[in-house]
Amino acid sequence: MRKIAILGSTGSIGTQTLEVAREQGDLEITALAAHSNIKLLEQQIREFKPRLAAVWDEKKAQELRTNVRDMNVRIVSGMEGLIEAATEEEAKTVVTAVVGMIGIRPTIAAIQSGKQIALANKETLVTAGHIIIDLAEKCGVSILPVDSEHSAVFQSLNGESRRRVEKILLTASGGPFRTWNKEQMRTVRPEDALKHPNWEMGRKITIDSATMVNKGLEVMEARWLFQVKPEQIQVVVHPQSVIHSMVQYEDGAIMAQLGVPDMKLPIQYALYYPDRRPMSGERLNFFQLGQMTFEEPDLERFQGLKLAFRAMKAGGSMPTVYNAANELAVQRFLEGKIAFMQIPEIIQACMEEHTTIQNPGVEQILEAEQEAYERIEGRW
Ligand code: NDP
Ligand code: MG
Repeated sequence: MRKIAILGSTGSIGTQTLEVAREQGDLEITALAAHSNIKLLEQQIREFKPRLAAVWDEKKAQELRTNVRDMNVRIVSGMEGLIEAATEEEAKTVVTAVVGMIGIRPTIAAIQSGKQIALANKETLVTAGHIIIDLAEKCGVSILPVDSEHSAVFQSLNGESRRRVEKILLTASGGPFRTWNKEQMRTVRPEDALKHPNWEMGRKITIDSATMVNKGLEVMEARWLFQVKPEQIQVVVHPQSVIHSMVQYEDGAIMAQLGVPDMKLPIQYALYYPDRRPMSGERLNFFQLGQMTFEEPDLERFQGLKLAFRAMKAGGSMPTVYNAANELAVQRFLEGKIAFMQIPEIIQACMEEHTTIQNPGVEQILEAEQEAYERIEGRW
């Protein structure tokens, strides 16, 4: 049995990871963690019987403790609990599927205790990539991408020399507003932005896909995962989401990974790597597909993507400001407090007011996050 822990088990990636476990039948779940959805967490505990479950919210943790007192499971809470779930002795792999920068500390702790990381939580790598990648190397731990684009790149690197990579071509669906003009984009409501054309995901990443900030975060994620220079990453809009991403080599050859969009494939690939397990489900039918199309991203309409390249080039604490400003702006947009097009405006304002700190430690990263939040509080 392969033993895994899942941080963020009640979310979109978390529940799909458990589906993979259900289908494969040889994954043992040692620990689960969620924020506050104790109803679903209880069902997961009863089905998968982990030894440990972490709930961020202390009150909810107390409630869950009472509800599962007939089970042999320890319920922990807060950051301490999340770290306990990340370092639980028996797990070999930790799936990091929490949303946001809250994932930094548990991911670092998991690496320090020698766990392989199946990484979905891109915000962690965007903000603390320099720390995570160095640490993983030092501890001899692999970071296996779960994000579909990065999994595609990772698969396209199989058997090749990384020194010969010329470019990483990250594909993007373009989101629901790909063909909208600026005027129309000013009228976007949360319910419009929550409709993604090809993928079913959590709320935050769905909004990030609509602004293309998600692609911006993925560009920075790719930079750390594959150790390439910013100018070696190119975004290619491909509305059908069939090519999940590509690698261009120095001889001009391009390797790609294609398939029906389904997050269970990259999740499963990360959990069983280097093995490729069978998976049921739909297959890509080229005759039905007919054609694949490609466009250059419009950085005028999608300022969030443009700002990501700027943040990446500034480096240091700037990607944290980009990410933190976006997190809070998305929350404000979902609460109906700001307009859709204000999301990149807020990111830009926070970035312009920030003085980059190079090579920040975890404390400085968290301070930069706080600084961005404080700039937004009261102003928007
Ligand atoms: P969801 O919002 O669906 O799920 C988030 C999960 O994190 C939930 O289980 C939530 O618990 C948990 N969580 C949030 N805060 C905490 C906390 N403080 N302590 C413990 N658990 C917490 O997000 P997604 O699954 O969509 O995304 C997760 C990550 O994966 C993100 O970083 C996203 O960018 C990335 N990703 C997602 C993809 C997708 O297809 N969904 C694709 C590629 C990457 P609760 O339910 O109790 O709130
Ligand atoms: Mg992705």
